[in-house]
Amino acid sequence: MKSTPDRITLIGAGLNGPLLAVLLAQRGFTVEIYERRPDMRRVRLSAGRSINLALSTRGIHALQQAGLWRGMRNIIIPMKGRMMHSVTGELTFQPYGQNEAEVINSISRAELNIALINAAEEHGATIHFNRRCMGYDLKTGAIRARNEETGEETTLEVGVVIGCDGSASSIRAEMLKLNRFNFSQQYLDYGYKELTILAGSRGEHLLETHALHIWPRGNHMLIALPNIDGTFACILFLPFEGTDSFASLTTAAQVDQFFESRFPDAVPLMPQLADNYFTNPTGAMVTIKCSPWHMEGRALLLGDAVHAIVPFFGQGINCGFEDCTCLVELFDRHGADWARVFAEFEKERKVNTDAIADMAIENFTEMRDRVADSQFLFRKKVELALEARYPQLFVPKYAMVTFHRIPYSVALARGTVQDRMLAELCDSINRLADLDWDKADRLIHRDLAPLGFRQ
Ligand SMILES: Cc1cc2nc3c(=O)[nH]c(=O)nc-3n(C[C@H](O)[C@H](O)[C@H](O)COP(=O)(O)OP(=O)(O)OC[C@H]3O[C@@H](n4cnc5c(N)ncnc54)[C@H](O)[C@@H]3O)c2cc1C
Repeated sequence: MKSTPDRITLIGAGLNGPLLAVLLAQRGFTVEIYERRPDMRRVRLSAGRSINLALSTRGIHALQQAGLWRGMRNIIIPMKGRMMHSVTGELTFQPYGQNEAEVINSISRAELNIALINAAEEHGATIHFNRRCMGYDLKTGAIRARNEETGEETTLEVGVVIGCDGSASSIRAEMLKLNRFNFSQQYLDYGYKELTILAGSRGEHLLETHALHIWPRGNHMLIALPNIDGTFACILFLPFEGTDSFASLTTAAQVDQFFESRFPDAVPLMPQLADNYFTNPTGAMVTIKCSPWHMEGRALLLGDAVHAIVPFFGQGINCGFEDCTCLVELFDRHGADWARVFAEFEKERKVNTDAIADMAIENFTEMRDRVADSQFLFRKKVELALEARYPQLFVPKYAMVTFHRIPYSVALARGTVQDRMLAELCDSINRLADLDWDKADRLIHRDLAPLGFRQ
């Protein structure tokens, strides 16, 4: 295939690739996507690939920009807060935001992916399934693609190529050969596994529908997100090694015993527990940072390919979708001067993707451990009270990340100041009635006002 200036080749039809294809097609580009997997609309997903995602403001904004959000409304379930499950089965609900609008939305990864693939094709993009990118020639810009069904390899001359091929990106692997290419990857010692909570006999949810359920247990955790068919997609997070780890749970009896002792109220809802546990793969979680993100206006990395993050802030795809809108906004401003667009894209995004990567790791401790802590829950109440009184100055870090499009780096900077402030205000009290509002007022005007008001 010969390249033309208005043709763009994307590698990867995961979540970012097809959304970017829609946004580019809307701007008149001919888009081709090469995807190593078969077409998920025709082939049954392999076990463990249907983990749910929490979609929030940044992701929704991008879908709105592409004109796709309205069509997604019937495949999402709004979650208003976290429902914590104690070992003895007590439930504590903690709202995510101030009101009904501040919710996160559970969506099946597979359904979202299929909707995006359909939309990309409807907008004229061509998706070549079962075509794995085997390499990218940095000098000629040619792609080597293998047909995964026949094993045949072809060389394709492409113009601009964008690697949307996830955390093990083939395009990034080639860019590693560039002089002075910076790259870091940091794996967690924890893995994850997909499990399922079944629906009731009439297809109803057996736990509260509009919540993200968490069983926080210190060094391990179970979470459950609702599906529209009445089931919950659960994710078990566990260390890879040591006692109570994926390595130590090797028999059905051990798995049952572990769940009975740690998550007893979930066990009756998971009759296929051992089967799920041994069938579904154990996934790893990695943070990837690298630079540069682009090469000579010919190649660019986007989404997990350039900034994979751990899933504990529920921001991976929200951040990736924000990449997509940022990129096309820069194109709208500068036209197809790709060298300039790609350079500005990295300049604008990297500081922010580094920030969310760091906040996601920090949130791991919060989710698995601190959400069960009464002082932490009290601080969350104080945060909401401060936000209600100073909406232009104090927005909780979780809300800045999840319900606003404030740049992640700003959320990190303001959040750090706010954390210090909350420690000072809350450490010796445990009732909202005892909050020293004069002190709060002084701290907010002294420490937050100089950082500017909310945009
Ligand atoms: C357990 C877990 C929970 C998560 N929860 C959330 C959440 O709640 N909210 C959120 O926003 N994010 C979440 N994420 C993150 C989110 O899944 C990722 O950020 C997102 O999938 C990245 O999209 P992508 O398109 O960049 O990469 P991917 O979705 O990984 O897609 C990459 C695509 O490229 C294809 N590909 C790879 N290599 C090649 C090749 N050589 N040639 C051709 N094709 C190739 C792959 O088959 C795939 O289809 C979670 C992640 C995990 C692991």
